[in-house]
Amino acid sequence: MEREALTALWKAFQEILAWQDPDPRDILAFVYAHAAPNTVTLASSFGLEDVLLLHWAAAITPCPDVFCLDTGLLFPETYALIETLKARYRFRLRRIAPSLTLAQQRATFGPELWRRDPDACCRLRKVEPLGRALEGYAVWITGIRREQTPARRHAQWVEADAATGRIKVNPLAHWTGARVRQAVEALGVPYNPLHDQGYPSLGCWPCTRPVRPGEDPRAGRWPGFAKTECGIHQ
Ligand code: SF4
Repeated sequence: MEREALTALWKAFQEILAWQDPDPRDILAFVYAHAAPNTVTLASSFGLEDVLLLHWAAAITPCPDVFCLDTGLLFPETYALIETLKARYRFRLRRIAPSLTLAQQRATFGPELWRRDPDACCRLRKVEPLGRALEGYAVWITGIRREQTPARRHAQWVEADAATGRIKVNPLAHWTGARVRQAVEALGVPYNPLHDQGYPSLGCWPCTRPVRPGEDPRAGRWPGFAKTECGIHQ
């Protein structure tokens, strides 16, 4: 998208920031009404937030564009959920693979890079693919929420994302995890069964464990490392 058009879109989106406790569906509807459909993409790792956004987006716009950073290391339950959602909703799914296969990564960086240097592994398998996922798109929609991590504490409904040069839209920024869960259940949206087995937050299987009662919901991500983000949300 031309810079002028992107600037015009950014200005139009400023209206959202003036809303009080907006319904995430209104944010989605505004975005899809103001941006050309082929310039908007929905990021999904198929967590609770993502399936809820997909449910709403599919009702607002025909065949929304969705991308998944498919590291090749997602849980089998996540891959199964993708098939369930494809059967239930009409959406265009782009599975973005890393440049290196797992075998190539092993040959270049040694076995189980995620155990030694998860930042490097995330750069290879998530951050670099994100750049390719967003090529040709002006707006990406995400399921991040302020309460999830310190880095997300100031997430806005609409942001100028310096890292990607895109407009980033976070319709659930102000929602709690409980509110998301309640909506998913009330709407009957299919979700990952691992959420009922102690995994409030899901990523790659080597870097995700169930959380114990009383632990932070993100405590199961990258256990043993002072790492709470993969690097695609900055
Ligand atoms: S979450 Fe773990 S396995 Fe997945 S890309 Fe990051 S470090 Fe690698």
